[in-house]
Amino acid sequence: MRTQRQVVDYSLRKRALLRELLAGRVGTYDLCDASPYLKNAARFHGEPTEQRCPICRSENLTHVHYIYGDELKQSAGQARTVAELSVLAMTLCEFQVFVVEVCLGCDWNHLVEQYLLGRDGLTGGESEQETPGGVAAASGAGARRRREAQR
Ligand SMILES: [Zn+2]
Repeated sequence: MRTQRQVVDYSLRKRALLRELLAGRVGTYDLCDASPYLKNAARFHGEPTEQRCPICRSENLTHVHYIYGDELKQSAGQARTVAELSVLAMTLCEFQVFVVEVCLGCDWNHLVEQYLLGRDGLTGGESEQETPGGVAAASGAGARRRREAQR
């Protein structure tokens, strides 16, 4: 999403957890404890992925996007679809998104990443648009040099 920023990736923590599981230091019952609320959110607002569940390997993971922020008022803490997120990102200045992966087969769940969305991120995008002009000017100078070399 265009306004996505301050991304925190939790994949290292996930790998560490899976290593603990393989080593037998934690049990699947510790990791596969998705609440009924989380599973409902996955069913109704979740985004299906192509990733296999790392625990049962029989179901694909579903990503659930939870939103937080003062501007959301009573919607804070609720799950939203990706389509709803992009509408909110154009409407609100700033809100926090937490992405949780869930397996509806074995109840594995883990925080994948968090990031900020919202119109506040668009100011950075506008200044980036100056770059193509800079590139064109640089290649213009190159063409001039080539013409001079042909003389
Ligand atoms: Zn699973």
